[in-house]
Amino acid sequence: MLNDRRKEHYRRLILTYLAVLFVGWLFGAPLIVFCAALVTHVIWSQIQMHRLLSWLHEFEDGEPPRAKGAWGDVLDSLWTFRRRQRTEVRKLQNSLQRVQRTVESLADGLVIITPKGEIQWWNEAAQNMLNLRASDEGQALTNLIRDPHFVEFFNKNREHVQFVWHSPRTGSYLQFTNNRHAAGNRLLMVRDISRLRQLEQMRQDFVANASHELRTPLTVLQGYLETFADLQDGLPERLRKGVDLMLAQSKRMANLVNDLLLLTRLDGVDKPVDAKPVDIAALIHSIIVDAQALSGENQHEFAVHIDSPMLLLGVDNELRSAFSNLVYNSVHYTPPASLIELRWRHDDAGGYFSVTDNGVGIDQKHIPRLTERFYRVDVSRSSSTGGTGLGLAIVKHVLMHHGARLDIDSKLRQGSTFTCCFPPTLLTEAKSSATD
Ligand code: ADP
Repeated sequence: MLNDRRKEHYRRLILTYLAVLFVGWLFGAPLIVFCAALVTHVIWSQIQMHRLLSWLHEFEDGEPPRAKGAWGDVLDSLWTFRRRQRTEVRKLQNSLQRVQRTVESLADGLVIITPKGEIQWWNEAAQNMLNLRASDEGQALTNLIRDPHFVEFFNKNREHVQFVWHSPRTGSYLQFTNNRHAAGNRLLMVRDISRLRQLEQMRQDFVANASHELRTPLTVLQGYLETFADLQDGLPERLRKGVDLMLAQSKRMANLVNDLLLLTRLDGVDKPVDAKPVDIAALIHSIIVDAQALSGENQHEFAVHIDSPMLLLGVDNELRSAFSNLVYNSVHYTPPASLIELRWRHDDAGGYFSVTDNGVGIDQKHIPRLTERFYRVDVSRSSSTGGTGLGLAIVKHVLMHHGARLDIDSKLRQGSTFTCCFPPTLLTEAKSSATD
């Protein structure tokens, strides 16, 4: 199409100049007439060029000037190209505006940070939450939030890692999530979680208060029931059975209340505040004394393997709760006279306390949910053991509190191994005594 038009132009140009030569020949001066036509053509082309430039510079939005021949085609092509370009730009502008409006209407704050840690851009929510002003553009974010914990989180720059900051200015709790962004930049997402925190606090307070209030009446009930149980000989047979049952249930309730109180206490603190070196070997031996009493007539056998001389930096009574929950579970869920093994060892990756039994075991499908509060594999069996359903939740919380984790390895009808894995930073060598 374009080639045809070009050919037509050349054809017309040649014909015109041939006609000029012919007219010049008729007048007896072909060269002069030809030169005059050439000059006229150049001047005409200059005028068309000037009109084109004026249109390009001054009349951007209007239609192009009318022209004939090759110049007409040039102007038409430019006009079509320009219209197409303008439609594309308009489409892009619309999408950009849509994205901008969406980002601005987000309740979550977004801040783009340059590789140097300077603030490059933020949305309205971030502006309100962090009290950002136009003059903060290009400032280091750590100059605005100087909390050392925030600075540590910010400098580590790990993807998807979250950090909760309590703003002293507004009193709100802001959750930051670090994400990668284009061109080496990063995108910080800021979410106000004050309401969530408040609800969580209300839940914790409610459970703590309710458990606390239940403790006194339970102690009174238990005291009287124990007295009645001591006087069993003087009681009629039917009452005796009832007293025994009530005593067992009140003990179960007392355990539940104590476990709930322990869980709420663990919920309230992020890291152990009074961590001290704990002698795990001594702790294990004292737990075994209680476990033997719990086993009673079932006569479980306990084997202890202390394969590490290391002490563990932690909170003694919390570790005792966690470890004894694991050992008591093995007693509850293992047939009489079975072997229960307790082991303490360490390697370069950390310290490990494990409890292994060859009891009923757990189906794989239950394992991911075992540490949820009140999650039970078999409700009837669990209540017959007097379990509260909170034991493994307590273990998980204690371990989280120590920066550790719980590994569960279990096979149905073959047995289980529960391992508490502590980071190497919590291991410490026992100080040798002066007499050594
Ligand atoms: P519970 O008080 O019911 O024992 P836990 O939180 O301690 O609650 O344990 C949750 C569930 O995990 C238990 O109901 C039990 O089914 C299962 N479980 C825990 N330890 C063992 C174990 N050593 N062997 C088999 N099942 C276990």
